Amino acid sequence: MKLCNICHKISATDQDHLDCVQRRSIETEAEDFKNNIPEKLNLSKNTQEIDVGVKAILEHLSKSKDSDK
Ligand SMILES: [Zn+2]
Repeated sequence: MKLCNICHKISATDQDHLDCVQRRSIETEAEDFKNNIPEKLNLSKNTQEIDVGVKAILEHLSKSKDSDK
């Protein structure tokens, strides 16, 4: 009998629950992603620059859409 290290419930196998392991890895990735956002936001010193960046992306998307035709 083994306890899952993640949810601390009894695991039928000798390992942590597979879904617990997967959930933890997703949460870890989400945490990493969240931690990276402030750095990215800091690159843009104000919302004006973010707006410009968003506009550039939207323009790029509409351009690539046109080129698909
Ligand atoms: Zn578990």
